[in-house]
Amino acid sequence: MAELFALLDPPYPQIQVRRDQARSLDLRHPWVYLTALRKPPKNLPPGSLVDLTAEDGRFLVRGYFNDQSQIAVRVLTFDPAEVIDAGFFGARLAAAHARRAAVRAGDTTAWRLCFAEADLLPGLIVDVYGEWVVTQLLTAGMEAWRPVIVAALAKLLAPRGIFDRSDGEDRRRHEGLEPHSGVAYGEEPPAEVEYREHGRRFLADLRGGHKTGAYLDQRDNRLAVAAHAAGRRVLNAFAFTGGFGLYTATAGAAEVVHVDSSAPALELCLRNLALNGIETGQELCCDNVFDALRRFRQEGRRFDLVILDPPKFAAGRAQVDRALRGYRDLNQHALRLLEPGGMLATFSCSGAVDAPTFQKTLAGAALSNSQTVQIVQTLGQPADHPLLLSFPEGAYLKGLVLRVVS
Ligand code: SAH
Repeated sequence: MAELFALLDPPYPQIQVRRDQARSLDLRHPWVYLTALRKPPKNLPPGSLVDLTAEDGRFLVRGYFNDQSQIAVRVLTFDPAEVIDAGFFGARLAAAHARRAAVRAGDTTAWRLCFAEADLLPGLIVDVYGEWVVTQLLTAGMEAWRPVIVAALAKLLAPRGIFDRSDGEDRRRHEGLEPHSGVAYGEEPPAEVEYREHGRRFLADLRGGHKTGAYLDQRDNRLAVAAHAAGRRVLNAFAFTGGFGLYTATAGAAEVVHVDSSAPALELCLRNLALNGIETGQELCCDNVFDALRRFRQEGRRFDLVILDPPKFAAGRAQVDRALRGYRDLNQHALRLLEPGGMLATFSCSGAVDAPTFQKTLAGAALSNSQTVQIVQTLGQPADHPLLLSFPEGAYLKGLVLRVVS
């Protein structure tokens, strides 16, 4: 594999960047496109460390290089004295761990330890599920440090096992890397691992489930939405393994209809409900949400609270228009199942769709239904999925809790 040959020892090759790019790095943006390099080096192995300099030779940043990716350099440090070695990775991961103290305190055993750029380790995702750790190494620059990262995590967390899930999304392909999945350290996690989230119990499939096994990023939003659930008829669309619907059930919802097109996800949803002692008022529906919403409408079925947490509709800018049509259609049909006073909690995890655009799309959906709708709460990413002020591209998750007022 190419990463075996990455050059990782100082002195690091120097590459000059164009003037406008120097400005972007001065603003602490962590990405450099290939076109911003004045003379991209030939034959530098993917993952190699480089120093970027301004046209006058001034040091700008140190990072890793991959000319197979559109983002040719990702920044590791703005400090010329910082050497990239095992100590560097150990310190960055320990700092990220320390920053999660508040997340770990709240009867929550599953949390994101490292969120790539936001934790100053671009290309690295680390999720913790109790005594298990799941990693995603998404770039050649991180792949080159795989043994070092695994050793640092083993030392920091003393887990039963570390499982690598660098198999999802297309991110690795854009880097010229093959998908990879398997035990990286210790034992293999069992088919179902139990974790707690705000005191609720969940089972996850860390080896094969979506992402690293669960959608940890919605943890706080589930709590916010459940605050409106007592005594209500709830529609939990895009239910996955329970998530929002399970929270609303524990918060006293009168009934919850969970809809998802994945049968294995719904099976786990049922088990998760039982695990939390929820035995009544639950309906599981294996269906396409778009079809289910139309069918409920035809049947004259009504809900007091609808939750829409769909998968990513736009993978990039080219798909934004199509994604917006999807969001509009989905939300319009969901809003039609609500009477005045009814609520919709609606989400988008498409990074290419920003919050104002999402909100405008929802306004269009409400207008088409001749409904007046208020925003009750604005939701986003939790503390373990932070956002750098200098890297707005890291914002992807947005949600609105809406109420139909007339
Ligand atoms: N709300 C969940 C996470 C949802 S992830 C939670 O809180 O954990 C998105 C889910 O949508 C996945 O489970 C996927 O199986 C499902 N899905 C994707 N497209 C769908 C469709 N058209 N109809 C129904 N379910 C769909």
